[in-house]
Amino acid sequence: MAKSGDKKESKSSSEGITFSKSKDFSEWYPQVIQKAELADYSPVKGFMVIRPNAYYIWQKIQDYFNERLKVLNVRNAYFPLLIPESFFKRESEHAHGFQPEVAWIANKNGDENGEGERLAIRPTSETIMYDSYSKWLRSYRDLPLRINQWANIIRWETKTTRLFLRTREFLWQEGHCVYETKEECDKETLNYLQEYARLCKELLALPVLMGMKSEKEKFAGAFYTTTIESIMPDGKSLQCGTSHNLGQGFAKSFGIKPLGRNGGLILPWQNSWGFSTRLIGALVMTHSDDKGLVLPPRVAYNKVVIVPIYNDESKSEVLKAAKKINGDLKDFDSFLDDRESYSPGWKYNEWELKGIPLRIEIGPKDFKNKSVVAVKRNTGEKLTIKISDLKRQVPKILEDIHNELFSSAEKSMNARLKKNDNSKEVIKLVGEGFTVLTNVCGGKDCEDEIRAKAEGLKVLMYPLDQPKSMSAKKCTFCNQQARHSAYVGRSY
Ligand SMILES: [Zn+2]
Repeated sequence: MAKSGDKKESKSSSEGITFSKSKDFSEWYPQVIQKAELADYSPVKGFMVIRPNAYYIWQKIQDYFNERLKVLNVRNAYFPLLIPESFFKRESEHAHGFQPEVAWIANKNGDENGEGERLAIRPTSETIMYDSYSKWLRSYRDLPLRINQWANIIRWETKTTRLFLRTREFLWQEGHCVYETKEECDKETLNYLQEYARLCKELLALPVLMGMKSEKEKFAGAFYTTTIESIMPDGKSLQCGTSHNLGQGFAKSFGIKPLGRNGGLILPWQNSWGFSTRLIGALVMTHSDDKGLVLPPRVAYNKVVIVPIYNDESKSEVLKAAKKINGDLKDFDSFLDDRESYSPGWKYNEWELKGIPLRIEIGPKDFKNKSVVAVKRNTGEKLTIKISDLKRQVPKILEDIHNELFSSAEKSMNARLKKNDNSKEVIKLVGEGFTVLTNVCGGKDCEDEIRAKAEGLKVLMYPLDQPKSMSAKKCTFCNQQARHSAYVGRSY
């Protein structure tokens, strides 16, 4: 993964961020990731090490989502990492879609004599899970079945890999449910997508667009795919989660045929839905700045850092007050940086780089006024707060930070959206970093042509919010009858 930028990197490894978010976005991003100690490159190409600072974010995502799963009656389970080759062949579209990305175990076979079939490392778990489902689901009374798995996945990417955004191994959750009817399946497929949007907003302060993938872009083997995407500051769309109605194809291929209400066997409906550690990449890109990482408070390991400022004379009383404040703010995972060998200014830079949402400075003068200065990481705004009022004020400020991050991200995302129905202008706007709402026919050939018009140009999604009628609308690109309002642009 060594890149040409590495040289610059090593020269400044002890300093802060040297790239500008607005000017050198593609170099700024990995620098923030590495300097904030979120992740590191691995000796194996395309893999990454997730460091504690980022793993904590993932744990908060898991905690949040596990609570939601409980409410939604979804149980967690775990299925094997290795999948027999024959399972892949059962659903041909699925097999075809994943074939180029599957990593095979070269020298181990399925049975102990070494004569069995080849084994794949899971690129997704539909096939291995549905083999079990076919044994478990005996009757309509067993439905709906709702299972989620937290796991790692391997997809042998050939495109350039990027920390959190595109790596050959990543962590994710994959939910797999089975229903008696299409209606239930449709309803819950959309419901899981809405849960994802909710997680993005409530936990990560991340605004998303919700939509449907085109026929060409849908999940391999799915009836249809719904998606949430967020527009990154460089104008590219980042897919943050997908929920697929799988139809009845997998049930047919895997022999999931429980007994129906009328005595005969039924073919149930299925969905699968997932998000991954990619969300961490989205969070970094959206909120961080030229000083480093900006973390929404709900996923910050330390929400507050306390930096004491003193001279020899004032040292003991300032430290005493700082310790007291640290104790008062324990509920916010506060942290007292009382290291002697670093200046306050050095500490400010370090915690700004690492993204701690709120810094509390306490010096002799503040101490005399029985107050502190609180500095918000997201805006740099300074607030003078009475020490006695801290416990009451800090949760409010953290809440404000979350809301400010969300509205600022939403504003910046909306500024990247345009509406246009002229093919040339659409292409020009996408080239300038916009995502454009326009009308398309939905034909696969037309979509291929759209892709050929400019590098990276594609149909991103049909927003869930569609006009009542498309009858008077023409496809922007081929002039045939339009069938969908669609976002087109570039994506990660
Ligand atoms: Zn068309």
